[in-house]
Amino acid sequence: MDRTTKNVAVLGSTGSIGENTLQVIANSEGKLRATALSAHTQLDRLIEQAIRLEPDFVIATCPEQAEKQDWKGLPSHCELLIGEKETETVVRRTEIDIVVTAIVGAAGLQSTWAAVEAGKIIALANKETLVMAGPLVMTLATATGATILPVDSEHSAVFQALHAGNQKEVERIILTASGGPFRDHTPEKLKEVTVADALAHPTWDMGPKITIDSATMMNKALEIVEARWLFDLDPRQIEVVVHPQSIIHSMVEFIDGSIIAQMSPPDMKLPIQYALTWPHRQPSCGRKLSFDEAFNLEFEPVDRERFPAVELGMEAARLGGTSGVVLNAANETAVAGFLENQIKFNDIVPACRYVFDQHPFEATPSLNGLLKLDRWAREEVSRWICT
Ligand code: MG
Repeated sequence: MDRTTKNVAVLGSTGSIGENTLQVIANSEGKLRATALSAHTQLDRLIEQAIRLEPDFVIATCPEQAEKQDWKGLPSHCELLIGEKETETVVRRTEIDIVVTAIVGAAGLQSTWAAVEAGKIIALANKETLVMAGPLVMTLATATGATILPVDSEHSAVFQALHAGNQKEVERIILTASGGPFRDHTPEKLKEVTVADALAHPTWDMGPKITIDSATMMNKALEIVEARWLFDLDPRQIEVVVHPQSIIHSMVEFIDGSIIAQMSPPDMKLPIQYALTWPHRQPSCGRKLSFDEAFNLEFEPVDRERFPAVELGMEAARLGGTSGVVLNAANETAVAGFLENQIKFNDIVPACRYVFDQHPFEATPSLNGLLKLDRWAREEVSRWICT
């Protein structure tokens, strides 16, 4: 094999980011190879991917699902590994150069942590890792020489725009938000939102959890916390603006008032590829922006009363410590409750606020302490849902 080929482990390969990552790898003309793939439940899809991409390893993270699966179709040279712990073993292997962490939610933390410990290049699509444990992860990355590159489109945009100046010259970053499907809903209308309404996103095609987060704007809240740690910013330097077209993916303002924006159609293949080929750029199979027809770019301030999640994100970024882990865990549980019709759309953020406000705050928690609070917040929200 060409020595310049980079071996990529794609954790969460059957999800939306995972599938896009595999397209980017297939388009890389041999510069990237999918060496390991992991999936939790979509194991037929995992086998299909293994037949197509011939990885050395496939990991089925859920033993119960793996047990039920017929693995006959798996290519014979491909080693099957079962259980969540195996992702940690695989990402530590010396031949793995890049780890794409596309597992949704808190479940992505342990494998990302292992990749950081092993000093790998991490294409970070699991924003929860930094929301939950930003200071610990960034400190560990500095110690091990791991490189954390953003896949989140907003953070990729900021990362690209930051190249226009140095850290001291940054005035603020402006994260753009599509505003989700309910941008123009009145508070009364927001009360009536169904699961199907919330799952229909106007500009981005994503998994159910992040689509609901986008509708509540909790996604932006989590991204504020992610940006705070990833770019080592003062939380006061982070702003959010609604930009319904999702063409400008975020901006950096420098101290002289110059604002650098990154523009491209809403297609995750570009930020994924930039993380995989950084510091270089390659021709992309993603969509390109056309100026053959007129189009507008609009901006409007966030209505923080209708979307109180944004303020929660700002608070979590300001407070640090245990606030990110609690916000994330509360939100994951509340969103699951909404998807199962146990609570209303309008209850998701108040449930998070309730648990956030009464959690036993700690400024410098250990990883174990964070995981404990993660469980605590989930139980608290479940109790809140039941009462
Ligand atoms: Mg994003």
